[in-house]
Amino acid sequence: MARVARPVAIALGSNLGDREAHLRAAVASLAAILEGLTVSSFIETDPVQTPDPQARYLNAAATGTSSASPLDLLHTLQRIETARGRTRPYRFAPRTLDLDLILCGDLVIDTPELTLPHPRFRERDFVLGPLAEIAAGWRDPVTGRSIADLLAALSSAAATRVRPDREGA
Ligand code: ADP
Ligand code: MG
Repeated sequence: MARVARPVAIALGSNLGDREAHLRAAVASLAAILEGLTVSSFIETDPVQTPDPQARYLNAAATGTSSASPLDLLHTLQRIETARGRTRPYRFAPRTLDLDLILCGDLVIDTPELTLPHPRFRERDFVLGPLAEIAAGWRDPVTGRSIADLLAALSSAAATRVRPDREGA
């Protein structure tokens, strides 16, 4: 049976070793598995949620289309990570390369191995920022909101959190 080609969004991150080389190598690998690859700029971000002090990240986003199954895509991303020396000593450890599957068409999946859309992407400006550069109009199939909307919601939430401190100072 013919498979459908779906639009796919991937988040890239690195905070260990030659970060730019890891992201560039990932982009080259993604070019071989996605049709119409589009890549955002690379941005530097502070580590979030890490259990220890860590180096800053280089983040980017990529989009394209693929007719592979989402699980095959995840496994391919994991092979690309491994090829760049990715290890997993503990959760949120520094990593040479992290490739997260953010969106896969309008698929909604919740299994231990794969959750789609990615469960934390709506709260991550280091994902939404680069993704908004190249796919602002794509919609989250769960909330129905566009990437641009999700990023705006995140920015206004951050402003609301900061303001009381400033006023109280
Ligand atoms: P991190 O959460 O810090 O990115 P890993 O890259 O090691 O850590 O991923 C942890 C697990 O998350 C993987 O074993 C993978 O099966 C699972 N996972 C679930 N959903 C996704 C997704 N959408 N993209 C990538 N990994 C996912
Ligand atoms: Mg990951």
